Amino acid sequence: MNTNKAIKIRIYPNVLEREFLNKTFGCCRLLWNQMLAERNEVYQQLKENSEALRAHKYKTEKEYKQDFKFMIEVDSKALQSTTRHLLEAFQKFFKGLKQARKVGYPNFKSKKHEQAYTTYNINNNIKIDFTKKRIKLPKIKTWIKYKDDRDFVEPIRHVTVSKTKSGKYYISILIDEELGITPLEVIHCDVIAAFDMSASEFLVGEGESYSNPRFYRSSEPKLKKLHRQVSRKKKGSQNRWKARLKLARLYEKIANQKRDWTHKTALKLANTYDAIILEDLNVKGMQQFNSGLAKSVSLDFSWHQFKNILKYKLEWRGKHYQEVDRFFPSSKLCSVCGYKNENLTLASREWTCTECDMHHHRDKNASTNIKIEGIHLLEEKGIKVIS
Ligand SMILES: [Zn+2]
Repeated sequence: MNTNKAIKIRIYPNVLEREFLNKTFGCCRLLWNQMLAERNEVYQQLKENSEALRAHKYKTEKEYKQDFKFMIEVDSKALQSTTRHLLEAFQKFFKGLKQARKVGYPNFKSKKHEQAYTTYNINNNIKIDFTKKRIKLPKIKTWIKYKDDRDFVEPIRHVTVSKTKSGKYYISILIDEELGITPLEVIHCDVIAAFDMSASEFLVGEGESYSNPRFYRSSEPKLKKLHRQVSRKKKGSQNRWKARLKLARLYEKIANQKRDWTHKTALKLANTYDAIILEDLNVKGMQQFNSGLAKSVSLDFSWHQFKNILKYKLEWRGKHYQEVDRFFPSSKLCSVCGYKNENLTLASREWTCTECDMHHHRDKNASTNIKIEGIHLLEEKGIKVIS
């Protein structure tokens, strides 16, 4: 697995934001070209005297900033990384000379080519709002819009803002992944958790359950009120537009709360367990279940979103995610003796096994069965499960 991952997204800066980005590109280009020119000049003067050449003190970035006062207005980290990139380019060049490899001498940067600058995330000065799809960059007061559907929680290391020759703007985001991950080959039974995705409690496990806060349901009266307000206002009127905006903001707020809860819960599980087994969701059955409920309740349950987030959080830690086939009769099987209770209906929350007399809580019994089946599937993949 990679140690870090780059995600490139297209951004849509407005006029003022474009102005700022272009200014930053310009300052970085100027700094690069000035430093490069200085090095070329010094080399021409001192090439016969390698000692003096090595001991030469070049102008610092700070001194350049004094020469070009307007550089203070742009992101200082962008200027720092320009300096670093130039020094790295020289190091590569000299290393290439020693090893008789052909590495190009650093070139001057032209306005005609692609423009770029790199800046670092320090104290969270780079932020992304995934719901509103906008990104905050250092030194720019406004949030820049972007279009992309990816979502992540890993810390941002640095970003490179670029502008193509055709005038399109992009941001390449480098995020941290945990270092040197190899998938676990041996797992202790105790750090494997299995959950039944339950209609009443979200996730039901043998030892613990997770209920999801019903953000939509608890906001339902407020949502209804705002919906009514929209429909009461005259079509095309300023007031209708305002009411719509209010409604949209509430939906966004609820979606953010739900996303936050989902990430936190998945993170907790991924940190606690080495393998997690979930039942592959019976989508058709779920829809039947949903059809009988208020929309606000079905909005509160998004197992698919949860599963995807949990899956990648586990994988990025070298841990395992296992699904158990939805046709596996997890609820009907007695987890003690294996007897299949064909008479079990959806309505019965508890039952007693006629073979071994064991009394079962429906979802807990199901999660035990899911765990047994999931461990079996993990072992088929070559993972050793010890108890
Ligand atoms: Zn039994």
